[in-house]
Amino acid sequence: MNKEETKFSVLCSLFNWMQRSKTSALKRSKFRKFLDNFCKAGDYFSAIRLILPSLDRERGSYGLKESVLATCLIDALGMSRDSDDALRLINWRKGGAKTGANAGNFALVAAEVLQRRQGLSSGGLTIKELNDLLDRLASGENRAEKTSILSTLVQKTNAQEMKWIVMIILKDLKLGISEKSIFHEFHPDAEDLFNVTCDLKLVCEKLRDRSQRHKRQDIEVGKAVRPQLAMRVGDATGAWKKFHGKEVVVECKFDGDRIQIHKNGTEVHYFSRNFLDHSEYGHAMSDIIIQNVQADRCILDGEMLVWDTSLKRFAEFGSNQEIAKAARDGLDSDKQLCYVAFDILYVGDTSVIHESLKGRHELLQKVVKPLTGRLEILVPNGGLNTHRSSGEPCWSLIVHTLDDVERFFKETIENRDEGIVLKDLGSKWEPSDRSGKWLKLKPDYIRAGSDLDVLIIGGYYGSGRRGGEVAQFLVGLAERPVANTYPRRFVSFCRVGTGLSDEELDAVATKLKPYLRKYDYPKKAPPSFYEVTNHSKERPDVWVESPEKSIILSITSDIRTIRSEVFAAPYSLRFPRIDRIRYDKPWHECLDVQSFIELVDSGNGT
Ligand code: ATP
Repeated sequence: MNKEETKFSVLCSLFNWMQRSKTSALKRSKFRKFLDNFCKAGDYFSAIRLILPSLDRERGSYGLKESVLATCLIDALGMSRDSDDALRLINWRKGGAKTGANAGNFALVAAEVLQRRQGLSSGGLTIKELNDLLDRLASGENRAEKTSILSTLVQKTNAQEMKWIVMIILKDLKLGISEKSIFHEFHPDAEDLFNVTCDLKLVCEKLRDRSQRHKRQDIEVGKAVRPQLAMRVGDATGAWKKFHGKEVVVECKFDGDRIQIHKNGTEVHYFSRNFLDHSEYGHAMSDIIIQNVQADRCILDGEMLVWDTSLKRFAEFGSNQEIAKAARDGLDSDKQLCYVAFDILYVGDTSVIHESLKGRHELLQKVVKPLTGRLEILVPNGGLNTHRSSGEPCWSLIVHTLDDVERFFKETIENRDEGIVLKDLGSKWEPSDRSGKWLKLKPDYIRAGSDLDVLIIGGYYGSGRRGGEVAQFLVGLAERPVANTYPRRFVSFCRVGTGLSDEELDAVATKLKPYLRKYDYPKKAPPSFYEVTNHSKERPDVWVESPEKSIILSITSDIRTIRSEVFAAPYSLRFPRIDRIRYDKPWHECLDVQSFIELVDSGNGT
């Protein structure tokens, strides 16, 4: 072994120092000292890929999340699976030996276990050797192979070193320093170069000399670019103020996979937000891209979604991989991948990110030939062939007033979409920028754990596809009963229709159907179990004839509740959404009005 090679133990000392240093400036200076005094320039990439493991694309994924890593480590250390230490690793979320210590931090629980099994002296591993072993770990085909490599690592390290290796495998070193600071300390142009290439090796090799500046590089076809991002805003008013005087477009925020499509002749790549190349999309999409993107070389920015051909709408998030697999295996399905391009970054031999969004929209229309439900473009007032609902003509709209924004937001939420993105039509597309050229507005849903369990007390008929069927519910809160008795009255609370799949909605509607009654108000008052306000504008089409026949729904909503003038309860919810149907919960366990008000007043719901 070459004595000159950088030892992993040296890098571990740097990690320990950085972790202990309080300020970012101190952490940065330790890192600089390491580069100048302890790391050969030829080892920069080997070292920095271990410091920023989540940015390293040279090796594939390890396939080792905490639970699998726990079992592999148990075997690598030759421990019995039911020993105390093995159980500690498996139950890492609960913590280590001292009750609860290190709970939820796998590397620290592992360090505790390793300390009892490994010596103090370093095995002398170099960072090059460690990277070779990590390459083998990533390419290991099965658990047995991975376990055997972990066992080699255990033999060549001490407990300290192995703890850091575990953190590298989990891709989070918790050093308390941002990747931006690491880049800036390494070289003033490192971040810029990384943003347009997503290639850590290239950055470390090209920028070895800190004193030599690098000319700003533009994006290239075939190299993933770090995506332009959106800044979150609290409400439409805030967003509107930020864009004061600008020309603004609002777009639906689609809930799929952010994908950059790079077309180079007949070669097509699909880069995710983490710059992984998702070649699995190729089977379903590449021919479409090659035929309908009318530029030999092009980069599109957009969202990969699933289009349901029978329901004629986008499917809910989560089925992209499954549909990509079905397409690869030639399986028949009424669902297909659909790419919605909302931006264009490169055409022919030119990067177009410096043009205004307005100009890029024009290019998008020139270059991409849309194909309904397969390849769509998102440009203002049209473009997308698939209209979202009969009343709403487009998914993208140039807005002139705050009212326009609020209306678009409301319609988007009612259509079960995730939120909206507002964009400055005069802005450039900037890699990795989150400074506010794009703003995202989403309802703030009450955190899980404070779901509201409410009782269905009435139903509203739907229109279109759900004509003649109950499509929305009026839900109520219980009036707090005397101790040890069931509630006798329910107070109307809000109207809710989104959140369930069609199948779930059908199941609830069918279960309730025998108990639904029409009451021709004001000729006939609703059942006496229900309290509705006198001036209530909200009257369901049907009522559930008595509460014990009904079903509890868990709903969630925007955390800002609103004072209700429409429903009988004093507050109602903004953008309520059904989380799940609680067939398991009896009707009388419905949340009562007082508990709800306490929840609102305690700040949990305001
Ligand atoms: P989130 O979890 O809210 O999606 P994020 O951190 O992944 O946030 P942001 O940049 O904050 O990403 O939000 C923008 C994301 O929204 C994009 O990465 C993209 O995946 C998605 N998106 C959906 N529709 C659009 C659209 N019309 N324009 C831009 N981004 C969109």
